[in-house]
Amino acid sequence: TDSAVVPEGDRVGKGAIHLVHLYPREMSIYGDLGNTRALAARIRRHGYSPVVHQHHPGSAFPETVHLVLGGGGQDSGQVRVEEDLEQIADRLRGLAAEGTPMLMICGMYQLFGNAFITVEGKRLPGLGILDVTTQGNAKRMIGPVVLDTEFGDVVGYENHSGSTTLGSGQAAFGTVKSGFGNNGTDQTEGARTGNVFGSYLHGPILPANPALADALIGLAAERATGRPFEPVAQDDAFADEARTRQVRRLVKR
Ligand code: GLN
Repeated sequence: TDSAVVPEGDRVGKGAIHLVHLYPREMSIYGDLGNTRALAARIRRHGYSPVVHQHHPGSAFPETVHLVLGGGGQDSGQVRVEEDLEQIADRLRGLAAEGTPMLMICGMYQLFGNAFITVEGKRLPGLGILDVTTQGNAKRMIGPVVLDTEFGDVVGYENHSGSTTLGSGQAAFGTVKSGFGNNGTDQTEGARTGNVFGSYLHGPILPANPALADALIGLAAERATGRPFEPVAQDDAFADEARTRQVRRLVKR
């Protein structure tokens, strides 16, 4: 069943925003659970009421969905969620087509693409929501990352064997200023189609990059309430300072 955590009811503040975290047990590595926690806390600070649904393999997919999150995992975790992902594929494709904001990190980013071929040559078909294809390699791409994106500098940490290639019309999420990104060769990182974002950045990415968190929350709030996002000013001094330090350390001017 759908295990929603509804701590403060459905009608608190400016409205309820329903988040779905895909496969928190199998796909939530390198602190990616922090994205869900950061969003729930920040939604509350903006005056809305977060409702977090954990979607596990075999459980019913929630009816009300305003934002979808997925994290990274080992190749074996990806194999364990494949069957369920096929069950909910049409629902996710429909939500994506409607403009539902989604953030998929690393392993789930790969599975939102056309396919992930593991280093052993096993082909895991993806949802095809993002036009990307990933090939596993013996050599891993590991380390801190700085990206140039529409949200300004975005920082994080990557650790993947998969090397991802964008389809010809596919937009990237960002341009690599430091790190490997999709493949270590073309300077692209992640992918974006409509409001669906894919990225390799752990860290987790959202607490470290509040502008990206607010972009997702704003889109979700509009979907949830039918009204424009009504943000509350946030104190992001700590995140801003940490991000600036990582940029200075890694990017030579
Ligand atoms: N198994 C995938 C890879 O190594 C994803 C890794 C991850 O999610 N960190 O490419």
